[in-house]
Amino acid sequence: MMAEPVELPSRLAILPFRNKVLLPGAIVRIRCTSPSSVKLVEQELWQREERGLIGVLPVRDSEAAAVGTLLSQGVGGDPGYGGSKSPTTSSGEQQKQDSKNHQEPIHWHNRGVAARALHLSRGVEKPSGRVTYIVVLEGLCRFSVQDLSARGTYHVARISRLDMTKAEMEQAEQDPDIIALSRQFKATAMELISVLEQKQKTVGRTKVLLETVPVHRLADIFVASFEISFEEQLSMLDSVDLKVRLSKATELVDRHLQSILVAEKITQKVEGQLSKSQKEYLLRQQMRAIKEELGDNDDDEDDVAALERKMQSAGMPPNIWKHAQRELRRLRKMQPQQPGYSSSRVYLELLADLPWQKVSEERELDLRAAKESLDSDHYGLTKVKQRIIEYLAVRKLKPDARGPVLCFVGPPGVGKTSLASSIASALGRKFIRISLGGVKDEADIRGHRRTYIGSMPGRLIDGLKRVGVCNPVMLLDEIDKTGSDVRGDPASALLEVLDPEQNKSFNDHYLNVPFDLSKVIFVATANRVQPIPPPLLDRMEVIELPGYTPEEKLKISTKHLIPRVLDQHGLSTEFLKIPEGMVKLIIQRYTREAGVRNLERNLAALARAAAVRVAEQERFSPAIQLSKGIQPMAASTTALLDTRLAGAGNGSSPSNGEVEMEVIPMDVSGQEISNFDGGSPIVVDETMLEKVLGPPRYDDNEAAERVATPGVSVGLVWTNFGGEVQFVEATTMVGKGELHLTGQLGDVIKESAQIALTWVRARASELEISSTSDKSLLESRDIHIHFPAGAVPKDGPSAGVTLVTSLVSLFSKKKVRADTAMTGEMTLRGLVLPVGGIKDKVLAAHRYGIKRVILPERNLKDLAEVPSNILSGLEILLVKRIEDVLEHAFEGGCPLRKRSKL
Ligand code: ADP
Repeated sequence: MMAEPVELPSRLAILPFRNKVLLPGAIVRIRCTSPSSVKLVEQELWQREERGLIGVLPVRDSEAAAVGTLLSQGVGGDPGYGGSKSPTTSSGEQQKQDSKNHQEPIHWHNRGVAARALHLSRGVEKPSGRVTYIVVLEGLCRFSVQDLSARGTYHVARISRLDMTKAEMEQAEQDPDIIALSRQFKATAMELISVLEQKQKTVGRTKVLLETVPVHRLADIFVASFEISFEEQLSMLDSVDLKVRLSKATELVDRHLQSILVAEKITQKVEGQLSKSQKEYLLRQQMRAIKEELGDNDDDEDDVAALERKMQSAGMPPNIWKHAQRELRRLRKMQPQQPGYSSSRVYLELLADLPWQKVSEERELDLRAAKESLDSDHYGLTKVKQRIIEYLAVRKLKPDARGPVLCFVGPPGVGKTSLASSIASALGRKFIRISLGGVKDEADIRGHRRTYIGSMPGRLIDGLKRVGVCNPVMLLDEIDKTGSDVRGDPASALLEVLDPEQNKSFNDHYLNVPFDLSKVIFVATANRVQPIPPPLLDRMEVIELPGYTPEEKLKISTKHLIPRVLDQHGLSTEFLKIPEGMVKLIIQRYTREAGVRNLERNLAALARAAAVRVAEQERFSPAIQLSKGIQPMAASTTALLDTRLAGAGNGSSPSNGEVEMEVIPMDVSGQEISNFDGGSPIVVDETMLEKVLGPPRYDDNEAAERVATPGVSVGLVWTNFGGEVQFVEATTMVGKGELHLTGQLGDVIKESAQIALTWVRARASELEISSTSDKSLLESRDIHIHFPAGAVPKDGPSAGVTLVTSLVSLFSKKKVRADTAMTGEMTLRGLVLPVGGIKDKVLAAHRYGIKRVILPERNLKDLAEVPSNILSGLEILLVKRIEDVLEHAFEGGCPLRKRSKL
């Protein structure tokens, strides 16, 4: 293992070792790539039969020389060598630098170490064919350079040995100074080893070294294993004198030992202080370093950089950019595991994503084209479209004029949303819908402050982020559905949004910096006007869309809905035909709505069913073609099958197998086969309607059936879905004279019921409903009134007349007319007061096939809004007093009137 002192030749080939020192006893691995060192290795080591020796001589870069000559004690050999312009030589490791410093003078150290190669390997680099060597060298003993001369491309030095021979050595070991120094060195070395041993178990062998290797070599070996500066290495090399060398080595070993102990102490201390997350952070830092080393750069650091780039290109106003940078700096200082990190990040992402300046190019507004597109998208609605065109015209003349905010009011499915999106496309702007339905919390509009956990921006800012431009058409959907409660008033936030003076700097609590909403065009929708807070309503121009008549719905279906639905399902009229008669049936029996949303849904259901069949048909189409060719849709499917099978019978090639498969559709029922009949489309008929849509949900006889027993009357009410026909059922049973109400009811309706009952009771004798045996009817009986049909909350006083009618019907045991519906509020004394939503209620009556409508007289003016074609089909009965209502509601007049003197 350890080399015995060797015989040195007088000349050695010299391998320069740049800024490094090979000490005796040390082993290094060097890759030689420069032409001179390759040549040297080849000639001195590779091609030699017996193992040759070479000299390893430290050289220093000129810069290093400038700093460090001081320490190179003993330098002072032939000055000629110091500045020799020798050919470039280098150890492989420094090869790159070498070629750079080609012209730099080389500073040779004048002492080196003779080395022998323990291992040699030769490689040929692939494309260039360049030869390289990897050499493992073991340092043997010091020498000094007498003179240096070039031999070919490398250098050869005349040398003299510096280390002691064996004999000199043995003599020196008797020297008491050396003995003391050796002891001291060994003790320090021993200490170092035991410290190292605690850390890792593999140093056991080093202890053995300590016992067996002569101390002067040990000194070199120990020092060689430390990472110390070039200068210190050089001074170790220059420590030819054994005493000097031992004390130097002792000093270095001790220093190393101390640094380990200190480091240990620090780690222990630090470890104690590190929390888990900090430890993770350290590990992550290390991982990052490792990744960087490996060239994997996909981590947070770059993430943050990418975020910053995104923020830079977001076009933030300067003051906001400053704010964002502050936040970004904060983020940079945080660890990803820290609580605030992700929230801070999400916030910055929002800042980067918001369209501070990005606009969709507003194109020159062409009113004609806008009108055409409105017309092509929407049937009817002439007035509404006219108003929209006016609105657009104003914008065209004064692009930054702040017209009122348009607010479309009407039941669902009447085209409010699609009109708003038409406005957007007419203006060439992007469209974004923000749903305000059920928004009770101001924070929904304005966002939560970021101090809240899980805080978010409000819906407006979120919408803007999604739409990505700052000038969209923004639809505030269901603005009437915002309520206010303890959590603030969303309406007041909306006020700010819609106020052109204030919305230049809209303040979202989450965003915490103002955002300019002034480029947004707002359009609102509502089901009803009443719930909209007046100040908000004040900012808006209401455009009512009352709902469609069945005739209009039919037109909308044929012109818009059916083509669109077919298109959405990849069908055309070639595949599916929905005849008008069927559309009418859907309108009558399957939908009873003011708008066309359910109609569209039902049409879509038909299209889906057809699409499935068409898809199947395509799968089987070769067979269908064949069957058509062979014989026109014969009843004798079996005959057809026979022919086909006969044709397929003469072999079992794969194609025949296919043919057999194709036969399968022939097995289905005759009716279905007609649908598979090549080109002819599926035509929707009543059977298909029932199959796809189920049994009819409504029928025209509903009213007649419902009022078949006394106690039921037909009312008209207003719900969020427009007008509705509402049956009121009253019944009575033995009890204590209490009133029970069921159904989805508001408080007002309960009061209406009380008033109705009081009125009826007060008139009981006049109405002669408490005569004879029925006398007890009102005293010892409970009355139960039920408002069936749907979970639609019903409120409003307009059921007053209906309630009375049903009670009168109950007590008089007379049925009300099935063709008559009514609405109206009633006072305690029997006056009928006007109510709202007349147009919708009349439309609803019309939808239900009601022929007569009883309305408060003072609602006459509202009839002007009802389309005349609908009015013409209805008998409108205007009433002042409840007695008039009863007169109209029963066949042959008020059942009790003749007897009483009402
Ligand atoms: P709303 O917003 O009023 O609830 P939508 O705008 O969502 O209703 O309309 C529902 C569907 O009915 C949409 O597909 C719309 O295109 C269609 N629609 C409504 N009214 C018309 C109309 N007059 N002409 C054509 N399609 C209409």
